[in-house]
Amino acid sequence: MPLPQPDLPEPAHPNIDSMLSRKFGKEVANYFSGSPLNRVSFLRPDHAFLSAALKHPSATFLLFRNLEPLIKNPDGSALAYATYSEVQPIIGEDPFATSEEDLIKEFNSQKYIPQIIFLGLDERKEGIVYKEHYKGQPYFALDVTPKASVTEAAEKLIKDLEGRGLSFSKGRMNLSLQAQEAAIYAEARHLLDWNARNPYCAQCGYPTMSVNAGFKRTCPPKDLARELKKKNPERPPCATRTGISNLSFPRTDPTVIMAVVSADGQKMLLGRNKRFPPYWYSTLAGFLEPAESVEEAVRREVWEESGVHLGRVVIHSTQPWPYPANLMIGAIGQAIPGGEDVHLDHDAELEDAKWFTLDEIREALRVGTSGLGEGPGPEYKEGGLRLPPKTAIANQLISAVANGFVTGNPSL
Ligand SMILES: [Zn+2]
Repeated sequence: MPLPQPDLPEPAHPNIDSMLSRKFGKEVANYFSGSPLNRVSFLRPDHAFLSAALKHPSATFLLFRNLEPLIKNPDGSALAYATYSEVQPIIGEDPFATSEEDLIKEFNSQKYIPQIIFLGLDERKEGIVYKEHYKGQPYFALDVTPKASVTEAAEKLIKDLEGRGLSFSKGRMNLSLQAQEAAIYAEARHLLDWNARNPYCAQCGYPTMSVNAGFKRTCPPKDLARELKKKNPERPPCATRTGISNLSFPRTDPTVIMAVVSADGQKMLLGRNKRFPPYWYSTLAGFLEPAESVEEAVRREVWEESGVHLGRVVIHSTQPWPYPANLMIGAIGQAIPGGEDVHLDHDAELEDAKWFTLDEIREALRVGTSGLGEGPGPEYKEGGLRLPPKTAIANQLISAVANGFVTGNPSL
């Protein structure tokens, strides 16, 4: 049996009439978007703010051990949070007590600092009030993996949490959280993963340091650890210290994912790879390449994987995907007349790709959707088409076509 599929996030202001909605239909918000937090990104370098937020009684901490989030239920359907007093033995009294500028001057690459991320303010809740305008409950993410100087404190905290029935979610992906928590988790996981992967400067190779509450890594000009080795603490010049460098900021890698419609609008092209369970198909997808438009990437990927030639391509909706750092750009493309012959010879990526009628697809959306590792629903009959769950943008793209997106009569 498949696990229950969480509801999708509400798009912003769904009930307010807009000329755009009248023309293009309602916005589709995909799973992992729709965070309730205001990120107030401009406050990230402001340590007076971060310090007050961290120590405010409403502050809440989402904990991770090796990128696995702390959860309440063993099925991974709800996150658990910790308080400042619980995490204080790990982070110390206040990691933001000193200004960012001074912390950079004191940088010591041998000193372990558990990664902390400021995620944003939940403005629906009572919490901090800063400079009149910025209000709400502060959310932080914290890596509590037992290591280096925090091993003992982290092990103790984990034991306490586990004693209360909480656990760290197992498995690489978490697709069971309620929509708003999923978005908070996605932000936290994406940034913790990026920080963990970038301990060294991509420009000069020296250790980097987390700043801007986890949203930037800087290459400090001095490293006090070098003094211990009787070296000059000054490091060689690095290009990331002058001007803006994209080596210093978290990356988001664009991928394209597309529902492909036949020239007459009556069929949809789906593909499967060897890893999929029997009868399970999905939309085609691939990485956007450098110096390529989204529309071109969609046409190229579809031709490379299936031999089908696309004409017009439109963007439907997008989905953040924190495994590890993707943005899925969901598109719908239509084959050109005479360009619908499928052949899989260009690229060995797919085991099969074929056209399905919209009726077959509507039936599969009704009875045959599930996560990859799960069985289909009770009404599914062996041999019928199976499709991804609604937490996947593929499902939203397929549903949009099944509901008339292309024929100009969308059931909104
Ligand atoms: Zn550097």
